[in-house]
Amino acid sequence: MTQDRRANVADSNAEQHAQTISDLQAKATALLLRSPRLSVSLILELLDIGDAQLRELSKCNPEIAPLLDKRRRGELDLDEPELKTCPSCGDWFIPYAGQRCCSDECYRIARVSA
Ligand SMILES: [Zn+2]
Repeated sequence: MTQDRRANVADSNAEQHAQTISDLQAKATALLLRSPRLSVSLILELLDIGDAQLRELSKCNPEIAPLLDKRRRGELDLDEPELKTCPSCGDWFIPYAGQRCCSDECYRIARVSA
């Protein structure tokens, strides 16, 4: 096999790889694109998807193109609960009704040390 032919084989493999994106990856992409906290480049990295595959996805998946448009316009809704850091233990938690700490225990510690 000559050098040129080997290069051609490698190229066609790469193209095939770009086209095969699993349903799971497509669903995960749509899901993660809804989060305003994640950048598109981070999502692609997490899911091991290239730019070309994302373009492909946005063409064949009806959910992804509108999400990308929304992102570009900065209109992504923040529909996940806001995470806070517990001032006592430093853990992340979802505050319920203005709760300041992750647990009663931490609340007591925060009150004592305040
Ligand atoms: Zn805590």
